[in-house]
Amino acid sequence: MQASKLKKQVALIDKSPHLGGASLHTGTIPSKSLRETVMHLALLRQQTHGIDIRFKENLTTLELMYRKEIVIQDQENSLRRNFEKNQITVIEGIPRSVCNHAGNHSCRQQRKI
Ligand SMILES: Cc1cc2nc3c(=O)[nH]c(=O)nc-3n(C[C@H](O)[C@H](O)[C@H](O)COP(=O)(O)OP(=O)(O)OC[C@H]3O[C@@H](n4cnc5c(N)ncnc54)[C@H](O)[C@@H]3O)c2cc1C
Repeated sequence: MQASKLKKQVALIDKSPHLGGASLHTGTIPSKSLRETVMHLALLRQQTHGIDIRFKENLTTLELMYRKEIVIQDQENSLRRNFEKNQITVIEGIPRSVCNHAGNHSCRQQRKI
């Protein structure tokens, strides 16, 4: 992102069709989103201060997972919008470097990066 703001040409290559890596899809965001939902509901249940707000008795795992997916999707869309705004090309795939300098020892092989 910083490079693109410095007017460099930038491409992001990811083998996954979903941007955001572990942080967005399996780690930080999913775990925090699930925790936040449960904490908000628990607080609301405790702190209605005499106002009768009725909730479903039991929240299902399916409902929790549904909200988690919405949070992830929102974040991924926001990432894509930011890349687009900064003219960063997103490519799905596995990159490798290719060199045509046959005589150069360090370039003899096509190296996966
Ligand atoms: C349950 C859980 C909770 C976590 N909670 C926190 C937290 O609260 N705070 C925190 O700071 N960290 C947390 N983490 C750790 C955090 O998710 C990772 O440290 C972070 O995601 C690492 O980022 P990364 O970009 O190095 O790698 P990744 O997030 O793994 O991203 C790597 C990306 O590269 C792509 N890729 C890999 N190989 C290739 C290839 N050969 N070609 C093309 N693309 C490729 C992958 O598809 C992926 O999109 C948590 C992790 C887990 C599992």
